[in-house]
Amino acid sequence: MTKPAIACTLHGALDLRLTPVAPRALGPHDVKLKLGAGGICGSDLHYYQHGRVGAFVIREPLVPGHEASGVVEATGSAVTRVKAGDRVAIDPSHPCGLCDYCRGGRMNLCRKMYFLGSASIFPHAQGLFSQAFVMPERQLTPVTEAHITLGEIACAEPLSIGLHAVQRAGSVFGKRVLVTGGGTIGCMCVIAARLSGAAEVVVADIAPRPLEMARAVGADAAVRSDTDATTLADRFDVALEAAGAAAALATCLTAVQRGGRIVQVGTLPAELPFPANSVMARELDYVGAFRANGEFDQAVQAIRTRRVDVRPLISAQLPLSRAQEAFELALDRSRSTKVQLVAD
Ligand SMILES: [Zn+2]
Ligand SMILES: [Zn+2]
Repeated sequence: MTKPAIACTLHGALDLRLTPVAPRALGPHDVKLKLGAGGICGSDLHYYQHGRVGAFVIREPLVPGHEASGVVEATGSAVTRVKAGDRVAIDPSHPCGLCDYCRGGRMNLCRKMYFLGSASIFPHAQGLFSQAFVMPERQLTPVTEAHITLGEIACAEPLSIGLHAVQRAGSVFGKRVLVTGGGTIGCMCVIAARLSGAAEVVVADIAPRPLEMARAVGADAAVRSDTDATTLADRFDVALEAAGAAAALATCLTAVQRGGRIVQVGTLPAELPFPANSVMARELDYVGAFRANGEFDQAVQAIRTRRVDVRPLISAQLPLSRAQEAFELALDRSRSTKVQLVAD
């Protein structure tokens, strides 16, 4: 019998508890890990505040968390790529590999996706805000560079989201890119656009801290979308909506030039007015970006080489035993960008 681990568990809106959970038994291809660092994501905050993320509703206690690094404690008999003591990046995405989407190469749209820390399926896919957990080897990538911190390694997942959003924009090489929202995902979009050769990357937000973060990760300019909106109009090839706000989407729609492309990566309110005729008359492309599809390894590589530096985004690290405080801190956008939980 595996000994129980303490996990941060959501029982519904604003009902966060620290409870013992028993990690599943170690199969031949499984790896037992201790939590390295686990970032609190916008979707975790939605579960915490509202007990749901869009259509995904908490129906049984859910351990949230899908942006984590870990340290290997034990390995199953058939495991070859990692060994005890290794520090690993964890891909939270486990597509079935068999459905039409998987076989067509769009694994992030899998019909039977098992995505960690998500209530999209029932029983829920339990996440990583736990002292210890068991994962299949195939979802782990060892990071051997000793100077790269567990906090940085845990940023591979949100970076993969930014990379996927830019991928959905088509080639941004030599193009002018606007990102609305300077939170973690917005900043990851900035990093991804720069990596992909964008000529100019501008971030728009309505608060000082996100704008400061955007500059810290390399945005060429960071402007107030509420007061400086006119400076943004009709001058971008691509706009990436990462704020999850109707006003931000409106900014994107006026900021792109005719024939431009808008990528929605943020979760917008369920109902909102949409100027569909502008999309038609200006021949805009409007596309969605959902999670990531194959960009995870690229994200790990960029972090392990420090080709990109995600450290400015990590605003606090709190032990798992202070999870409630960490969630409250993460909700405060004036003080937080990425808050991470670490093992006690
Ligand atoms: Zn996330
Ligand atoms: Zn599938």
